[in-house]
Amino acid sequence: MAIDPKLSERAVELRRELADHNYRYYVLDAPAISDAAYDSMMRELRELEAGNPELVTPDSPTQRVGAPPLSGFAEVFHAVPMLSLANAFNEEELRAWYDRARRLLGGRDFDMACELKIDGLAVSLVYRDGVLVQGATRGDGTRGEDVTTNLRTVRSVPLRLLKPVPTLLEVRGEVYLSRKAFDLINERRAAEGLALYVNPRNSAAGSVRQLDPSATVARPLDVFVYGLGQVEGGVVPDTQWELLEWFRDVGLRTNPNNRRCDTLDQVEDYYRTWLEGRERLGYDTDGIVVKANPRALWDELGVVGREPRYAVAYKWPAEQAVTRLLRIGVNVGRTGSLNPYAILEPVFVSGVTVRQATLHNEDDIRRKDLRIGDWVVVERAGEVIPQVVKPLIERRTGEEKEFRLPDRCPVCGGQVAREPEEAMARCVNASCPAQALERLKHFVSKGAMDIEGLGGKWCQTLHEAGLVNDVAELYGLNKDQLLGLERMGELLATKVLNNIAASKARPLARLLFGLGIFHVGLEIADVLVARFPSMDALMSASEEDFTQVTGIGPKIAASVAAFFRDPANRALVERLRQAGVRMDAGEAAAPGEAEGLPWIGKTFCFTGTLSAMSRTDAEEAVKALGGVATGAVTRKTHYLIVGADAGEIKVTQARRYGTQVLTEEEFAALLSEESSTA
Ligand code: NAD
Repeated sequence: MAIDPKLSERAVELRRELADHNYRYYVLDAPAISDAAYDSMMRELRELEAGNPELVTPDSPTQRVGAPPLSGFAEVFHAVPMLSLANAFNEEELRAWYDRARRLLGGRDFDMACELKIDGLAVSLVYRDGVLVQGATRGDGTRGEDVTTNLRTVRSVPLRLLKPVPTLLEVRGEVYLSRKAFDLINERRAAEGLALYVNPRNSAAGSVRQLDPSATVARPLDVFVYGLGQVEGGVVPDTQWELLEWFRDVGLRTNPNNRRCDTLDQVEDYYRTWLEGRERLGYDTDGIVVKANPRALWDELGVVGREPRYAVAYKWPAEQAVTRLLRIGVNVGRTGSLNPYAILEPVFVSGVTVRQATLHNEDDIRRKDLRIGDWVVVERAGEVIPQVVKPLIERRTGEEKEFRLPDRCPVCGGQVAREPEEAMARCVNASCPAQALERLKHFVSKGAMDIEGLGGKWCQTLHEAGLVNDVAELYGLNKDQLLGLERMGELLATKVLNNIAASKARPLARLLFGLGIFHVGLEIADVLVARFPSMDALMSASEEDFTQVTGIGPKIAASVAAFFRDPANRALVERLRQAGVRMDAGEAAAPGEAEGLPWIGKTFCFTGTLSAMSRTDAEEAVKALGGVATGAVTRKTHYLIVGADAGEIKVTQARRYGTQVLTEEEFAALLSEESSTA
């Protein structure tokens, strides 16, 4: 039977959205939605696929965990895949998991090991003859990132085990950050004007996946070990419970709150105990993990897709509270969308005071029948953005007022329009200052041009001071202008200017995404650039040309074509080009090539103190010759210049990546040679 096209369209849409959220969560460590919202989308996709197996594609997020490794790290292959877990959200689902496993085992009952589900980052630690030789992230389950140097800095990861263990012992665990450490890190980031981490999990993941291990050292991470990977040349206990005890014996840190349970009632009791007691823990958990205790059963039960049948994650419910909806405010987004949000009577939800919550759009407000003055249920699910779930109709007094979106933009007073098929109303004034600011914030954000040091607050300051009215003006900023701003010091100004300059070399797809074209997310930008590998190719393509590309639907094609037709947008791109921003996708090619600068496509990193010139001057000199100066050594770094008192870390990395290591004198010689020919 043919599948209803509406269902397959919905599946495509869910897959696309989930892939985008996976990217933000696993690669950027910066989720945009709550875990509960993500889980509910995933659940919808799972149900769709279960009802229509023809809809399942191998790249569906239901079939794969995480995301592929980041290119800055060496890749590690997991011989025993690192899996995800199936979820249970209530007691009934927990029982359904047990019953299914029992049925598959021919009716045999089994005892269980219950563990806290630590909300951190899964890692693999490989010990050879009891000595730590490798640490890796989960990545996409089979290919992870080699983060050995970073994990060595985690104090609770033993570098050598205390007792004899199998020749090859790979253990799996969760690296996490305590809430206290998380607060300290964010305080420090706020003081430095950096973007804040959303929660301890993202902060821990960001720390482990730092290219510069000295940055990891500064963050007090910890680990709890809970499982096995590869084992050779020796035996290990054959129940999960004994394994956990053995881990502790050989010096690996396990969670002290694990419990062995014979029955589901005991499991339920364990769950309730920690649901109530979890705030005392000092670190985030998102539920418990229940595992069949005899590991012989694990082979019998097997794995489906990305989830083992022998274990289940029994998650905490999303946290809710009741409060008053005082007013509804309206923000203007970068595409001019009018975004309503709830202003609430402050209420304490899962550990924080919530004053505002997202309301998505006018339709959503109507669908939920929310009225100003209502008592509402607020949810702070998965510790991210608070949502208004529903009004308590029974508490209405008749005084509540319906909400209407203003028919003029609340910022510029411009006209508001709403396309018939769109949920969002938009301010149509392209020069609306609110849009310009949001576009700027988007342009500098991590997934786009990634200009570190320029958080939302600084964007606003630059915008309000009239220094940056559009994104191209960023590249014309000078130090004096920055130093004229309140709270801007010499150090930060230098850093910001360097980061702005470094952003010129970002790949074309990031620039395309950064331009904030309606419907063009990161993935779509990649698809477009794969087919049109230069800005010129994109600008000269027609709407028809875009529609020919697999993965680009008519809506996206129309939006991209309209963007490049607009003379103001074309002029903006031209100014970015003049500023030296890279406009093609090729490896070596970059802006300024026409000028024949000798260090186009070359990346330099400086470490230690230079004696003849300041680091800033050296970096400026690199840029003047078309090169890029960065703060970290990656696979793409061509030269590392080592000054006095430099640490070992960058040099070791440089050796690993085949980066050429120069003394300051060698660099100076290279510089004068190139300057005379440039
Ligand atoms: P998962 O987090 O639901 O479960 C698997 C993981 O649990 C393991 O990989 C391991 O890291 C961890 N774990 C912690 N303690 C453990 C223990 N004692 N024993 C075994 N494992 C333990 O699955 P996942 O695939 O890592 O991630 C999916 C979840 O991540 C989703 O449910 C969602 O909540 C969240 N997510 C959110 C977004 C977003 O945009 N907000 C995006 C992607 C994923």
